[in-house]
Amino acid sequence: MQNFIADLHIHSKFSRATSKNLTSHNLAAWAAVKGISLLATGDFTHPQWMEHIQRELEQEETGLLRLKHNPHLEQEVPWFTGQLSAENLRFILCTEISSIYKKGGKVRKIHNLVFMPHLDAAQRFTSRLGAVGNLHSDGRPILGLDARNLLEMVLETDPQAFVVPAHIWTPWFSLFGSKSGFDRLEDCFEDLSSEIFALETGLSSDPEMNWLWSALDHFTLISNSDAHSGEKLGREANVFSGEMSFSGVRSALQRKKCATNFLGTIEFYPEEGKYFLDGHRKCNVALEPLDTIKVQGLCPECGKQLTRGVLSRIFELSDRQVPIQPENQPHFSSLVPLIEIVSEIVGTGPKAKKTLTMYEQLLRDFGPELDILRITPVEELQKSSKILAESIRRMRQGQVFRHSGYDGEYGRISMFTPQELQEFKHGRMFSFGKNSTTDFGDEVGLRWRRPVTERDKTER
Ligand SMILES: [Zn+2]
Ligand SMILES: [Zn+2]
Repeated sequence: MQNFIADLHIHSKFSRATSKNLTSHNLAAWAAVKGISLLATGDFTHPQWMEHIQRELEQEETGLLRLKHNPHLEQEVPWFTGQLSAENLRFILCTEISSIYKKGGKVRKIHNLVFMPHLDAAQRFTSRLGAVGNLHSDGRPILGLDARNLLEMVLETDPQAFVVPAHIWTPWFSLFGSKSGFDRLEDCFEDLSSEIFALETGLSSDPEMNWLWSALDHFTLISNSDAHSGEKLGREANVFSGEMSFSGVRSALQRKKCATNFLGTIEFYPEEGKYFLDGHRKCNVALEPLDTIKVQGLCPECGKQLTRGVLSRIFELSDRQVPIQPENQPHFSSLVPLIEIVSEIVGTGPKAKKTLTMYEQLLRDFGPELDILRITPVEELQKSSKILAESIRRMRQGQVFRHSGYDGEYGRISMFTPQELQEFKHGRMFSFGKNSTTDFGDEVGLRWRRPVTERDKTER
């Protein structure tokens, strides 16, 4: 059975703060560069984007869409000299809705993904939603619509349509966010809670962190890029096998027996996400959860309230000290974007010419980025670059250095010590592969051991 990679949350050029190049052809070109076969359309409630979708894509029996014409994808990524094809690429109708409303005496700000099984349903949904608020100004509309009522509207539109709460731990805009979310899924979706079967974990958390909380055991945890530009596609994604169809994907996420299987997710190292630790960006302050408790949640520099990160929030809501992988929850792999790996090796920024040249060469030699990161044997990569091969070996084994993100500041993952990179630059080879003596300290191994808190003691 053929595996395929799906990125189910992206945006178009009609969403705020996105790249102006984000057309279906540009998305298709980057999907080919990355090795993605199923891509969200994003933003389908936006009138102009829907016009674009109808002009460029055609509906298939499977509930998915494909490009109508066979476009020259090469002109979308002019730096790439190889060949790209959209032959096997399909789109799934998906949009993100931002709900801002009052419930239980608090302002809630929650993002949800809405999936529609065909164009007709998408249009009916859009016309109903148009009565609630303005869909023109943003591809990700901001509405005063209670998330429960949004879900009801989706279910009434088509029995196959479904909702997935987006990046559930992001402090400002999510189901469990520390700033404006809920402590329980049921408080948000009430009587319709059982209609939710999947959750998007977001960049700053991975499935293992979510396994700390037994309340999430029966949900399928998915991951997507939430890309605002082509090059970010697939930075997180989902792996399926079998039939590529709307109902297949839906049933696989519900973990029903069907022609499609959900095999797990492709993840960021969560430390690389923007809201991993607690912190205050203006003061360059980042704190581990326990240290935040010590300073009572206030910035030690300026006294303002710290932005509570994802790790801390998960510790707060979870009920296990160590993660337990629920039965029939698949595993996942933690990756670093190839351009960042190359950037560390070459010693120039991710946008620099030198970096791009090596990135391009690797894509031509070994095929789509996600294959290089996940599958290509290290021995093959060695033929092209020894240090790149070593970097990818370390990444795959979790032997990485983690510089954690906080309060909107991305973290960084590196595979080498500055000294190793110096030695390499001067032509000396440091220890490689299994013989590597690099000390990663406690960076490797079980990361998410939740510290015992006062609450645990009183509950016992
Ligand atoms: Zn969002
Ligand atoms: Zn501060």
